[in-house]
Amino acid sequence: MTEPTAKPAGEPSQVSRCDHAPEARLNPNVRGLRPSSTLAINERSDKLRRQGRTIFAMGLGQSPFPVPGPVVEALRRNAFQKDYLPVQGLPELREAVAAHHRREFGIATTGDHVLIGPGSKELMFLLQLVFAGDLLVPTPTWVSYAPQARIIGRQVRWLPTSASNGWRVNADQLDAACRADPDRPRLLILNYPSNPTGTTYDTDGLAAIAAVAHRYSLIVLSDEIYGKLHHHGRHDSIVPLYPEGTIFSGGLSKWCGAGGWRLGLFVFPECLDWLRDAMTAVASETFTSTSAPIQHAAVRAFADDPEIERYLQLVRRVLAALGRHVARQLEEAGVQVRAPQGGFYLFPDFSAKAGALRSRGITTSVELCERLLEDTGVAILPGRDFGRPDEELTVRIAYVNFDGGRALEAARALSSDAAVGNDFLRSHCGEVLEAVQRVAVWINRRPGLDRVVQD
Ligand code: PMP
Ligand code: GLU
Repeated sequence: MTEPTAKPAGEPSQVSRCDHAPEARLNPNVRGLRPSSTLAINERSDKLRRQGRTIFAMGLGQSPFPVPGPVVEALRRNAFQKDYLPVQGLPELREAVAAHHRREFGIATTGDHVLIGPGSKELMFLLQLVFAGDLLVPTPTWVSYAPQARIIGRQVRWLPTSASNGWRVNADQLDAACRADPDRPRLLILNYPSNPTGTTYDTDGLAAIAAVAHRYSLIVLSDEIYGKLHHHGRHDSIVPLYPEGTIFSGGLSKWCGAGGWRLGLFVFPECLDWLRDAMTAVASETFTSTSAPIQHAAVRAFADDPEIERYLQLVRRVLAALGRHVARQLEEAGVQVRAPQGGFYLFPDFSAKAGALRSRGITTSVELCERLLEDTGVAILPGRDFGRPDEELTVRIAYVNFDGGRALEAARALSSDAAVGNDFLRSHCGEVLEAVQRVAVWINRRPGLDRVVQD
């Protein structure tokens, strides 16, 4: 062993140099990958606020409503839970999820077919990792499916949809995507009510897709994380229509207002248990198991409970009225938009204003969102992030920047047949209305006056 050479007194110790050539040492699949746009816009909005700007944070899609009281109480009671839980999830929770599934869909299942994870996003990543085949994704689409595929090195086949058909993929389109190579293994991701469009499928549309899925033995990942936020409580699912090939995806993040709790779940049909097993094995080598107190509390969330049902009815009433109102505001400003059916997003298209926007130097959805943020303080996301062409002037608005706790209490005080009207929205969701009003004024402003809108 060589003796360390003594440093001459007074000489600073050698600082290690960063000579790792980072790009060359990154897995090529993640070179250039940036943080997810939903999370990045949130951090950017916070930063601008700290700099003193008035920001209308409509970028990140997170429920404004508090977690239902009984579920918070269950978490409090379970704070002491400290042990690792089984990789697949707490048996009591898996059973509660299975019972919920049986009630909702009339499907015979058990807790054995349920997999719990730290957010459904993580489970989707595991699914893409263990599944060998192509990915079929309708666009517009939630921001993370394709980057997950890219990280893993999986091919994505886009299925573009349009506003005229409610941003829904149809059976012929799906058939055409599979026909040339019918035996190729494929995973189709369907998300409804949709992030980012707020539209959803009816039973006939789902049945037609199910028939094609059956024909080509597709695996369907049915992302129903906004299912309970169907504005009229009438969510249809493909699960009972294609039970043998559908994996149901859900969790607490949206309907239960608990995105930060990080609890997601998959329910597998028996014939896809091989995927459950592979994912469980990978989970055991990566996240081990989902937070114990959260899983114990989630048992309460999946109980058949009138108090939670009442919470959901109120949340839906507020979201339905607000979504309708915002869509109307945009239409009156000359912006095309489909009225939302569920969740808390709208996906307006500004192409009717393309000429005026071009004269203001705006030709892409990214430029549109940048300028809106700069000029009005309204933070929203460009259609590009949802798989749309750069030059399509679509954007996603998350109408969630209001105090959901206050709105919920006010809705509770309304009689059951009273409408959530404009006065209610002005009092309890005023920031949303103001933001959309700013967009409406900005879009119809003559060139040169852009910044007047900003405070
Ligand atoms: N799917 C969709 C469509 C989403 O909007 C989100 C956003 N949270 C997720 C999945 C992931 O949700 P989580 O990981 O919080 O369960
Ligand atoms: N799903 C939310 C959104 O689309 C945010 C959370 C996330 O992307 O993980 O804005």
